[in-house]
Amino acid sequence: MPRTPYVGGNWKMNTDRTTGPALAREVAASAKANPGCEVAVFVPFPYLSAVGEAIGSGPVALGAQDCYFEPSGAFTGEVSLGMLKDCGVSAVLTGHSERRHVLGETDELINRKTLAVLEAGLTCVLCIGELLEQREAGQTDAVNERQLRAGLAGVSKAQMGKIVVAYEPVWAIGTGKVATPADAQAAHARCRGVLADLFDTPTAGATRIIYGGSLKPANAVELLAQPDIDGGLVGGASLKGADFGPIIEAAAASGG
Ligand code: PEP
Repeated sequence: MPRTPYVGGNWKMNTDRTTGPALAREVAASAKANPGCEVAVFVPFPYLSAVGEAIGSGPVALGAQDCYFEPSGAFTGEVSLGMLKDCGVSAVLTGHSERRHVLGETDELINRKTLAVLEAGLTCVLCIGELLEQREAGQTDAVNERQLRAGLAGVSKAQMGKIVVAYEPVWAIGTGKVATPADAQAAHARCRGVLADLFDTPTAGATRIIYGGSLKPANAVELLAQPDIDGGLVGGASLKGADFGPIIEAAAASGG
């Protein structure tokens, strides 16, 4: 089943009021040149509005890196989905490894956020992936399956249209180490099998499963050409238009 490739740039805690909109304009030019690929940028909260203005109504989706599941109230420091929508956000990351392993988010919290993103009608990029010690202990598939089942608990088949799964082996994020195309393909295929078990084969076949972890122009073509790799979530290389553009191009050329 053909799936439209999806590429997200996760800016993490980088950029400022000047560099963010400038980078967004470069991304918009790349997205316009590659209409076969869906493109999103996941921007720090303070710059969402400025980046939203820079990308306008063009092909790049404005994304947030986090959210809180409650609609309003006494939750100091948190940001609701209503606030994000008000700023023009249409996609949100949940379960990113830095939120799991640096900020201590649990599967349960990630599930509540995922459900809230879907209830708000936004696209949710649910990130999963194993730590190095889990990989070395042969637990990669078990960890991915647990994080998928927990993250998607209570999600309906219809809502899966708004889910993008990002498989990001934690040992490959920001390290320069990258999964081999064969290893990544195998992990993606097993994740798709879990989705088929959770929902059904057509739903699993329609869901984008993207790869993240030191994706760069030099390794993107081979990784994104794998049959179950439907795009990428990109950290470091999304901060330079000259690096992110070729990744978008590689995804568009892969045809999903
Ligand atoms: C990420 O932040 O999701 C990521 C994959 O980072 P990097 O590309 O820098 O490894």
